[in-house]
Amino acid sequence: MIPRRIFFFTIISFSILAAQTDYRSTIKIPDIPGYKTLKCDFHTHTVFSDGSVWPTVRVEEAWHDGLDAIAITDHIEYQPKKNDIPINHNRSYEIAKKSGDYLGITVIKGAEITRGMPPGHINALFLKDTNPLVKDDWKEVVAEAKKQDAFLFWNHPGWTPQLKDGKTIWYDEHIQMVKDKILNGAEIVNGYDYYPEIQDWCLQNNLAMLGNTDIHSPITFDYPDHERRTITLVFAKDNTEESIKDALMNQRTAVFVKNVLYGKEEYLKEIFINSISFNKSDIKLKGKDWFSLQVANNSDINYELELINDNDQIQFPKAIKLAAGKTVLFQVYAKKDGLTISETFDVEYQIKNLKVTSQEVLKTKFKFNVSVEPKN
Ligand SMILES: [Zn+2]
Ligand SMILES: [Zn+2]
Repeated sequence: MIPRRIFFFTIISFSILAAQTDYRSTIKIPDIPGYKTLKCDFHTHTVFSDGSVWPTVRVEEAWHDGLDAIAITDHIEYQPKKNDIPINHNRSYEIAKKSGDYLGITVIKGAEITRGMPPGHINALFLKDTNPLVKDDWKEVVAEAKKQDAFLFWNHPGWTPQLKDGKTIWYDEHIQMVKDKILNGAEIVNGYDYYPEIQDWCLQNNLAMLGNTDIHSPITFDYPDHERRTITLVFAKDNTEESIKDALMNQRTAVFVKNVLYGKEEYLKEIFINSISFNKSDIKLKGKDWFSLQVANNSDINYELELINDNDQIQFPKAIKLAAGKTVLFQVYAKKDGLTISETFDVEYQIKNLKVTSQEVLKTKFKFNVSVEPKN
């Protein structure tokens, strides 16, 4: 028997310990003008298809990982656990939604339409009822999803088992779905796989770009040692299902994976600009003496800058690594003696890990007021 006082003390100690292990990470990526930057994963599986975790675990993982919203997207046509878990295509969402409400994670009802290529696998989000999507003809399935006003995106277009001659290509069926406004987006990243052709295809066809985990196992099996999971960034008015849908339907997304950001130039530029700040914008030089500048990076993204417009008067750093959460000191100096100038320099850098197309990275200009006086 435990004396009463010790018993209570034990309970209190355990609850403090439990509270200490319940922590949520934050992903520091700034908001952009007019919108919040939400961190989302729109492709996850549970035991209700071929995943290995209960739906509540998906929500708890998302909370721990600093996400704002997830979609539960169990396969419709692939139900390998049906002898143990009765088929009910809405059930994984219903279970997850309760946890989402408790933890403040927006849970979106989705499903993975799982077919051979074409059309391959397609996720439908914001479904009202998944059960009517059980049909033989995939065209009728997407029509039913559209009847429910769902957002549809093409999953892992570069998934090896579904490639033709080893290449990622879109078929007439995909082109038609884009024309008919049935397809609204595509994964340019699934897990750690990036599909460059699909990034360009999304840009050309006004499709939202997504990057999701397609997680089946517990998240730490695929992303061990605090590795950050693949996320879709959504630029939304607020963290509600309605605002997320509005953002997705209007292609206000970007993808963050392994320290690379993929997305439209306008969004990546805003994220970059709102991540950093200089301590000075005026550079006062004497002769060839060094002048130091500091730039702080308040985001979780490590930026890799490379100078692209050199000049013959002032030397700006050729390369700058802006480490996440750090302030970097760098030097500026006159390239020659005897200069007397006072002018504004537009210094252009490219940011090597911000990809605005499959072939191009973001370029951005900084304005510096530079004055040089001869050294006495
Ligand atoms: Zn799939
Ligand atoms: Zn999947």
